[in-house]
Amino acid sequence: MDKERIVIIGGGFAGLNLAKRLDKKRYEVALVDRNNFHSFPPLFYQIASSGLDTSNISFPFRREFKKLKNVTYHMGHVKEIDVKAKTIRTSYETLPYDRLVLAAGSTNNYFGMEGLEETVFGIKTAAEAMHTRDEILDRLERGALEKDPVRRKQLLSFLVVGGGPSGVEIAGALGEMKRDILPREYPELNQDDVSITLVEGADRLLGAMSHKSSQKAYLYLQDLMVDVRLNTSMKGYKDKIVSFGDGHTEYWETLIWTAGVKGEPMPGLPQETIGRGGRVLVDEFNRVKGYEDSVYAIGDICLMLTEATPKGHPQMAQPAIQQALNLAKNMNKGEFVTPFKYWDKGSMATVGKNRAVAEVKDTTFTGRFAWWLWMFIHLISILGMRNKLNVMLNWVWNYYTYSTSLRLLLRPTKYPLRRHWGD
Ligand SMILES: Cc1cc2nc3c(=O)[nH]c(=O)nc-3n(C[C@H](O)[C@H](O)[C@H](O)COP(=O)(O)OP(=O)(O)OC[C@H]3O[C@@H](n4cnc5c(N)ncnc54)[C@H](O)[C@@H]3O)c2cc1C
Repeated sequence: MDKERIVIIGGGFAGLNLAKRLDKKRYEVALVDRNNFHSFPPLFYQIASSGLDTSNISFPFRREFKKLKNVTYHMGHVKEIDVKAKTIRTSYETLPYDRLVLAAGSTNNYFGMEGLEETVFGIKTAAEAMHTRDEILDRLERGALEKDPVRRKQLLSFLVVGGGPSGVEIAGALGEMKRDILPREYPELNQDDVSITLVEGADRLLGAMSHKSSQKAYLYLQDLMVDVRLNTSMKGYKDKIVSFGDGHTEYWETLIWTAGVKGEPMPGLPQETIGRGGRVLVDEFNRVKGYEDSVYAIGDICLMLTEATPKGHPQMAQPAIQQALNLAKNMNKGEFVTPFKYWDKGSMATVGKNRAVAEVKDTTFTGRFAWWLWMFIHLISILGMRNKLNVMLNWVWNYYTYSTSLRLLLRPTKYPLRRHWGD
């Protein structure tokens, strides 16, 4: 029997899990990703705050696919999809497919604010997180040299925009740097020189979690000297000046954006397949509307609107993994009989050592227990035994010593980090 050719775009939680589970006898799989590694976004904030090295939470595709004789890795950024000719064009080649699976995740959404893409920093990808880390270290070093106290405070002003889990986690990590690292490693600086502010448009942090978790996260951040401003919407950022909804403006040297995501654009995909937030519309089997026989979408990039999920599923790891497993099940059977049903295993966020919030079913855990739970869940989810051990060793070491060798400022001659795939 001739094998069907499946092209998967994206090797994140969704794409990688699908590739691993497709029937080897039935399908020949080509996985396209612009990075040659799978990574673990929930810990990107620790890259940005010099807590972990990128290699600790990344895994080369080629190593993973050594065991899978029916899967090949293709490096490339997707430039165009032609659903009529059944081909995709990447930065380097054109690939034909019998079936195409979109698993390219999501990207930063700046809500049309001009110039943000070029001026703010993010933690949406491993590369962005590394760039953000360099920016933070650069400002600490320059602040340590600055004689003018006003300019020093300017240089050391960090603004986190967005009070979801990513915003809370990076703000907490910066707060810990200010409290624990500054006195040890930057004796030229006072804690008062560094300001960390988090702004959130809603009236509470962690809007998708319970009020108890929101309140706890707020208190934890206050303990870490983070100035949290709720009901505060940012309207623009130009020449380091942030303008807010109420008309006032303020200087911030470094702005870390965590306030919104949208589906990764897939050029060439017919407009009628795109729904709210740039996400691709799918039915309950993850088949793309209008192309049910040949195009599928899973994970962050897809929007499955059902009575139970009128806004789609949360853009989180579990829906992505579970959709991949369900799609593999249907494809391996050769017929689409099992609709996707999401099993919500809970959510969590950490705000520094011994401080976290976790919700499992109707129970909320906070403090040290939630933090241990958070560490355990993240450790078992990271791919590769060596990575797990490295992360654990780093965490234990940092817990007791606050000392890591990761605060290295490695400057490439040119940052190839933003749109660098020829567009
Ligand atoms: C900072 C951060 C923290 C998070 N914390 C949590 C958490 O604690 N818990 C949780 O459940 N979820 C968390 N999430 C969300 C979670 O990471 C996503 O929901 C999940 O990664 C979605 O999986 P995916 O496979 O759909 O997409 P992704 O994991 O984003 O994978 C997409 C893949 O597609 C590739 N790609 C994208 N565009 C292209 C293109 N045009 N061409 C080629 N390749 C492309 C990318 O390189 C990537 O490998 C977090 C996300 C971030 C950014």
